[in-house]
Amino acid sequence: MPEPGLPLRIGYTAVPVHQILGNNPGPMTGPGTNSYLLGEEQLVLIDPGPASDEQLSTLMRCCERGQLRYVCVTHTHRDHSPGAKALAEATGAELVGLAAPEVAGQDQSFQPARMWEGGDILDCGDFHLELIATPGHVSNHICYLLLEEKLLFTGDHILQGTTPVILPPDGDMSDYLKSLRSLQDRDLRYLAPGHGRLMDRPQEEIRQLIDHRLKREAKIRGCLESLGAVTIDELVLAAYDDVAEHLIPWAKKTLTAHLIKLLKEDIVCDRGGTWSVKT
Ligand SMILES: [Zn+2]
Repeated sequence: MPEPGLPLRIGYTAVPVHQILGNNPGPMTGPGTNSYLLGEEQLVLIDPGPASDEQLSTLMRCCERGQLRYVCVTHTHRDHSPGAKALAEATGAELVGLAAPEVAGQDQSFQPARMWEGGDILDCGDFHLELIATPGHVSNHICYLLLEEKLLFTGDHILQGTTPVILPPDGDMSDYLKSLRSLQDRDLRYLAPGHGRLMDRPQEEIRQLIDHRLKREAKIRGCLESLGAVTIDELVLAAYDDVAEHLIPWAKKTLTAHLIKLLKEDIVCDRGGTWSVKT
């Protein structure tokens, strides 16, 4: 694991890519948030992380060797985007990403000057980055594909060593699975996640993640069939009996996302907070 604040060159790539681990480890951030610095002369920074003095001075130091053109964010959770505003102001870099949805826990300070969308390409001279809309974890999630290296920066869409939490009502399980499947058509060489290490078998990771979600969904349906009508508090203990106790509050959010998907598909029904399989 890299040391917080020290840029680490990753992947066998011609375009230099450095991972800079933030000093913000925790239950939801794992070892901390990864920022990524791309390029030699024209630089792009992906996910500046928290807006702490320590983080900002680290990133400003790392960016001294070139011209910072773009500060990109994968989404506006507070462990990914709050540093963007100060960095853009200090360097003149342009902000790239989608504005925060109006829900709790989002960084409303992130205000890009223009509307970005999936398919947009950032031209940085020696390299190009494509924006890929990947809603699911949250609605405004974007992955960034370094086209010359087939390296995908996945934010919280795909994590290393753990599975992302889906946070309804803004996060959406149907969208999440669709976003994962849309990546199956892509020729990818590496995945660089928002938390954890570089992954070098992208399609295997994506397939496993889809399988994991579908297995969990099947388990939820199986539990509902055997338990009858239950509340989410009761259901989570059965459907997530493999999850550590301290993570149960987060499991409840993802369980809710699964239930909303099944409700939309007319497979389950919700009677005032009591869930059952539709007969
Ligand atoms: Zn997130």
